Amino acid sequence: MYALITGGAGFIGSHLAEALLARGDVVYIIDDLSTGTIRNIDHLKVNDRFHYTIDTVENIPVMAELVDRADVIFHLAAAVGVRLVVESPVRTIETNLRGTEIVLALAAKKKKPVFLASTSEVYGKSERIPYSEDDDLLIGPPHVGRWAYACSKAIDEFLALAYWRERDLPVVIGRFFNTVGPRQTGRYGMVLPRFVRQALSGQPITVYGDGEQSRCFGYVEDVVQAVIRLMETPEAVGQVFNIGSDEEITINELARRVKALSDSPSEIVHVPYDQAFGEGFEDMRRRVPDLRKIRRTIGYEPRVGIDEIIRRVIEHERYHASAPTARWTGA
Ligand code: UDP
Repeated sequence: MYALITGGAGFIGSHLAEALLARGDVVYIIDDLSTGTIRNIDHLKVNDRFHYTIDTVENIPVMAELVDRADVIFHLAAAVGVRLVVESPVRTIETNLRGTEIVLALAAKKKKPVFLASTSEVYGKSERIPYSEDDDLLIGPPHVGRWAYACSKAIDEFLALAYWRERDLPVVIGRFFNTVGPRQTGRYGMVLPRFVRQALSGQPITVYGDGEQSRCFGYVEDVVQAVIRLMETPEAVGQVFNIGSDEEITINELARRVKALSDSPSEIVHVPYDQAFGEGFEDMRRRVPDLRKIRRTIGYEPRVGIDEIIRRVIEHERYHASAPTARWTGA
């Protein structure tokens, strides 16, 4: 099969490319390296079934050609990370809306199935736990930067479903919950790579707020397997799925485990949200997916638990810390 991955040099995209190559597919990726990096795909370049284009999905002639070649499209290119979203809202909104419009329009011309990467962020600040796919979305006001991301992704979902209903384009929407694993960068705020780097360098581990907010961390390899299986499942078409883990952990507990598993002398400090993100930042207290739908549809079960995930991320960061090209951003 010929697969096209937009955002293929990103964290999740590069793992997806790896998994598709492993099962024998020909993989084309396009990435503008805005948040992805060439280092994420360096190890894939030796494979003659792997092809990469460094460009934006907004370059329509280039995208049209790639879409023509593909049997299936995984649309992962997007602005990601709470820090980036808060700091660059124009880029976030425009990238997320335009990119998806272009991908869906081109795919529709040739009826190429599309997986749309969405996010648990669309549930906003809903307190109805666990979040299930048919729930109302409770997005905060436009003057709070964070919600721009949720809203842009919600529109992407509406547009994808509209293409399915009106133009018969086969689409599957996956709402990624917090996804972690090797190669994720802490530069855009993601908590686990930040904690691991802080722990390994003996710097304070910075827990935002009181640390009693909780998340569920899905291992990236489990997540990409789910994505691949969804695209092989006809009943998934026209549907939205939560993808991730439902093992809940507070950020305080995450900090403690990172410190213990890396044998770190770092102290755990608490930083007020205002100090980390500027005034008026809103965070969600709990975020837990209801996984019944994806379990029912593809028999999905997350396999790698949080302690093993932390161990693997520590190992990865240790290796990169000693590599000559390692880039230490202090993230
Ligand atoms: N967080 C933290 N310290 C950090 C980075 C993040 O305490 O250095 C918190 C963040 O406020 C949130 C949780 O960890 O409550 C998960 O953050 P992340 O940015 O990874 O994902 P989010 O769930 O916010 O999309």
